[in-house]
Amino acid sequence: MRKRWVHGLICEATGAKYYPIGIHPLPNLRYTTPMKIDLHNHTTRCNHATGTLDAYIERAIELGIDVYGFSEHAPMDFDETYRVSFADRGAYEAEVRAARKHYRDRIDIRLGYEVDWLPGHMDDRVLQADVDYLIGSVHFLEKWGFDNPEFIGEWEARDIDTVWGDYFTAVEAMAESGWFDIVGHFDLIKLFKHLPATDIRTLARPALSAIARSGMVLEINTAGLRKLVAEIYPSRTLLEEAFSLNIPVTFGSDAHAITQVGAGYDHAIALAQSVGYTEVVTFRKRKMQMVKF
Ligand SMILES: [Zn+2]
Ligand SMILES: [Zn+2]
Repeated sequence: MRKRWVHGLICEATGAKYYPIGIHPLPNLRYTTPMKIDLHNHTTRCNHATGTLDAYIERAIELGIDVYGFSEHAPMDFDETYRVSFADRGAYEAEVRAARKHYRDRIDIRLGYEVDWLPGHMDDRVLQADVDYLIGSVHFLEKWGFDNPEFIGEWEARDIDTVWGDYFTAVEAMAESGWFDIVGHFDLIKLFKHLPATDIRTLARPALSAIARSGMVLEINTAGLRKLVAEIYPSRTLLEEAFSLNIPVTFGSDAHAITQVGAGYDHAIALAQSVGYTEVVTFRKRKMQMVKF
């Protein structure tokens, strides 16, 4: 699928908006009362998470989360074991929509997908799904699952700076596609603490510029706190860069278990505040909503 821009600004294929560098869309809706949000959560349909949908939601309610989104690993004809299947896609969407209705007086449930950026495997059924948002994530470099402990040995065979460069080049291409709303765990490549000799800001800058141009939102993802690197994605340094480029942010715990729902939220808030952010973004039907936190 090739995107085509009409009037220079709108992607004809997906309706995604494309903005000149540094200029972000006026949000479709702006809330003034502070809210707690968590847009990145998985379900058992990806075969590497535990807990029922209701248990995730009940935990989110218990934590006082106002806007809670499921973003299951989207179907793809690659690495099919660890994602929802095309066959179950409808059931996943229906289940989250039913929960949205069922819990509407207690919490605002949103429906999304976390989509792998893997050129040659992108699928219109996912990219044009009727959901609230799409998170674009790079988990694979030329089909190497660099964040999977199973393939950690491959790091030994590679030049770390080259891997980091390739990773951010992939993120840049993903942003340029215009297909996604949120960048998932922007510096995931750091998770096993293989750190480059080159300044990370230099490596990440072209990707951040592409994100700023695309109007995408950066996710402050607390899953990094659970990894060897023990640090939120993105790092403070990169978040400062993002702030200077006017890139909006959102929050996600990347929960794959009930205990991970909303985990590290206070850390995420503190980091965002200290960098200068006062608002975060949620999405409803692919439209941006600004929320105080
Ligand atoms: Zn996962
Ligand atoms: Zn991910």
